[in-house]
Amino acid sequence: MTTEADSGTLLPTAEQAHPAASAAAASFAALLGKLDYLSATDIEHIRQAYRFADEAHLGQLRKNGDPYITHPIAVAAQCAEWKLDAQALMAALMHDAIEDCGVTKEELVERFGAPVAELVDGLTKLEKLEFDTREQNQAESFRKMLLAMAKDVRVILIKLADRTHNMRTMGDMPRSKWQRISSETLEIYAPIAHRLGLNFTYRELQDLAFRFLHPWRYEVLSKALNKSRNRRRDLISRVQREVEAEFVRHGMSVRIMGREKTLYSVYRKMDSKHLSFSQVTDIYGFRIVLPELTDCYTGLGVLHQLYKPLPGKFRDYVAIPKVNGYQSLHTTLIGPFGTNIEFQLRTHAMDVVAESGVAAHWLYKASEPNSDTSQRLGTQWLQSLLDIQQETRDAAEFWDHIKIDLFPDAVYVFTPKSKIMALPRGATVMDFAYAIHSDVGNHTVSARINGEQRPLRTELANGDVVEIVTADKAEPNPAWLSFVKTGRARSKIRHHLKTVAQEKSHELGERMLSQALRSEGIATLPAEEGPYHATWEKLLRFTGNKARDELLSDIGMGKRIASMVGKKLAVLLAETGLKPDALLISTERYASGRDESASQGVVTLDGSEGVSVQYAPCCKPIPGDRIVGYLGRGEGLVVHAEDCPTGKRLLLRDGERFLEVEWADEPVRSFDTTVVVTVTNGKGVLARVASSIAAAEADITHVDMGDEPAQTATDIRFSVAVRDRQHLADVLRSLKRTTSVLKAQRYKP
Ligand code: MN
Repeated sequence: MTTEADSGTLLPTAEQAHPAASAAAASFAALLGKLDYLSATDIEHIRQAYRFADEAHLGQLRKNGDPYITHPIAVAAQCAEWKLDAQALMAALMHDAIEDCGVTKEELVERFGAPVAELVDGLTKLEKLEFDTREQNQAESFRKMLLAMAKDVRVILIKLADRTHNMRTMGDMPRSKWQRISSETLEIYAPIAHRLGLNFTYRELQDLAFRFLHPWRYEVLSKALNKSRNRRRDLISRVQREVEAEFVRHGMSVRIMGREKTLYSVYRKMDSKHLSFSQVTDIYGFRIVLPELTDCYTGLGVLHQLYKPLPGKFRDYVAIPKVNGYQSLHTTLIGPFGTNIEFQLRTHAMDVVAESGVAAHWLYKASEPNSDTSQRLGTQWLQSLLDIQQETRDAAEFWDHIKIDLFPDAVYVFTPKSKIMALPRGATVMDFAYAIHSDVGNHTVSARINGEQRPLRTELANGDVVEIVTADKAEPNPAWLSFVKTGRARSKIRHHLKTVAQEKSHELGERMLSQALRSEGIATLPAEEGPYHATWEKLLRFTGNKARDELLSDIGMGKRIASMVGKKLAVLLAETGLKPDALLISTERYASGRDESASQGVVTLDGSEGVSVQYAPCCKPIPGDRIVGYLGRGEGLVVHAEDCPTGKRLLLRDGERFLEVEWADEPVRSFDTTVVVTVTNGKGVLARVASSIAAAEADITHVDMGDEPAQTATDIRFSVAVRDRQHLADVLRSLKRTTSVLKAQRYKP
């Protein structure tokens, strides 16, 4: 049992804080003294790694004048405290070798095997990351990136050991570096230690960072704490004596340790709650380590009989562990003179997990190598994550965090200015470019990743520094859609392509209309503003477009026929006195090679017009029919048969929208029209009629049968695709010769 209250303090003493102050203390011999948990073979491997590192760092010195190798040895020593395996210790000894000494990863693979080389390589990658503390809100992303980049938790542990030693020896560094390194420690590395449950390291990193960030505040607070410790010495030792005696009386064997809050946590409490030092009362406490889990609850009873518990202060973190796997019973008791004293009760296993977190895995494996219990306890921390996941809401949240941290579904990359961007896993260079700004994405021409030119479809990896090269004239490539991962990039690319298509069609439309106008003998398309403004307004009323640009886009996209609009425009211009130039007309026609019918100003149709021309569904004209063209509002040119009642009605009402149209000599496709066949009812009639139509080489595109089964005769309507009137006549003749067909004729509205 520990009897001195202060002996259990969790603060590093002055000597502990400067183990590298003397090169001798950090010597390899001292490290070897800590390796009794490893096999002789392991130790031999570690010795080889040491020799290799020593040679590599030969001639390099630490800032305090010690040989550089004292640093890797100190890092390995910390890893040995955690009882990490031989691979981790070897990596710790060589952790700066790639970065500082020009050793290659291949060399390490050859000499020490791939696993050790991977660890060293992972550490080298972390070393290259520099956190910019000026960037607010980036700390969390940076932490995640660190965790994500380390495929092996040993890399993080070695990194924490590295950072701890660098912080312990920061006094040797120039003062100008204290601020940056301390902030980084406080914002990045201490929280990682906490997240992984390495409480001892967490507190040490915080206190060291505090000391170098605010040396004066640290000094003042440290003195105040010393004074208060002296003042309270009697009280503390009295409580310790009384508690010990009580446990002895109950026949329980326990370990009691006095503990006090770290300077940094006292400072933070004062700072955040605006308290003076004397107002921070819960600085002192005791930790009681008991053999078994049930002893914790028995021990709680013992304490509550000795001193009165403070209501509302009891916490059962044994049944419901904290989010980082921490387990303990907490209670605050009213001690002698009415002083509040906090007690923590836990088993030895819980204590190790509480202090070493994820490192407890190795600690347990090492301390009882052949015990099943050690295996069970060793994985307790990880197991507890799974257990608490099912128990509490907090735990579920924690698991979410852990999932992000240890199994990240995001990649974290840097801009050239060291801003961190989080992107979904699998994101490519183009996702990154669009995440920065759509202007950057839209003008991307190439990219460099970590200084090297890479294709735009390259998937990004954690820690990549990505630089996008843009050019004003560059435009999104539709092919990007095939590899981008983010919705943002996808929609930005789509949007741009659509806009571009509109702009392009507008340009094209303008050219087509100008050309059409030239064929009408007018050399240039008049501007919208100026003397022909009213003409444009009339034209737009005629076409049904809202604006000139829209009309031009419509022409460019084939929704309207340039020659028809041009013809109408020429007529309107003639009304204003602008006469066509006969000479220009003949030159244009000669140049464009248009035939005589075109010279009459008639629109020729051959079926290749696409969506800009519709053949009216009422009369379904086919080549050979006399036809008229109606320029509908927003629906393009609608072609009716000359004798179609609908067409006639429109002509009366809307005459100015009619254009002269005619069939080309050789239409390029078939046209649908409707045939009504009257048949006698009977088995197989439809099949006979259909094969009769097929025999005339026409395709049936639709069949519509009247439902009059009682009748002896039925009308069947067929939509039939025919080349022209002659072809239709062949079909009708063929039908009339067919058995059961009483009558066959073209449908007329
Ligand atoms: Mn280092």
